[in-house]
Amino acid sequence: MRRHTLLIDADDTLWENNVFFEKLIEDFISIVEPCGYTRAYIRHILNETERKNIRQYGYGVRSFGRSLEETYIKLAEQMAKRETLAQIHGRVVELERTPPKILDGVPETLAYLTERHRLILFTKGEPAEQAAKVERSGLQGFFESIEIVPEKDSETYGSLVHKHKIVKTHGWMIGNSPRSDINPAMKIGLNAVYIPHQHTWTLEHEPVMAGSGKLVILPAFRELRGHF
Ligand SMILES: [Mg+2]
Repeated sequence: MRRHTLLIDADDTLWENNVFFEKLIEDFISIVEPCGYTRAYIRHILNETERKNIRQYGYGVRSFGRSLEETYIKLAEQMAKRETLAQIHGRVVELERTPPKILDGVPETLAYLTERHRLILFTKGEPAEQAAKVERSGLQGFFESIEIVPEKDSETYGSLVHKHKIVKTHGWMIGNSPRSDINPAMKIGLNAVYIPHQHTWTLEHEPVMAGSGKLVILPAFRELRGHF
């Protein structure tokens, strides 16, 4: 097989990410519930607040922490307590320090792929936070380049293709998110490998759309070995 360029997503593709956020959100909802709202309503307000804050402050654990605190203040109103805000803040700091939990089969599959193809890690988020995660993962040595962008859309995919002189027919995006990994990559003519993850963040959900490139759907990262 000819050498291909594999753009590989990080969060929920190489390591667990969203499951830690989901756990904190469940605990957060339990803290707010006694103020008299349903769990679904609290989640709805949190999602709305996150959408707004992502536009203003981008992705990342700090933007998420701000959304939790704002949601709490909005819903608790005069019942809001300083200790509860401190408790929420403490949990966010803890989340930020959680070491990456590498998904099953990832290191050996990357070792196999890097011998045969060019690997570029392509992730979105707050640059310092994502760079720290990559470093703590110990996986950076498998990649020729690490690219961190504020948003993964067809524009950023286009810039990446240009910067690394990727031949689109031999370029693949591999990831768990239809919205950030599969659809924008296929829109500009790249191929894609969709590896669904059961804890993919709600804000990343979107129907998978076909493009001119190939689309492969795999149940696990280690299955990449059978395709490359
Ligand atoms: Mg991801």
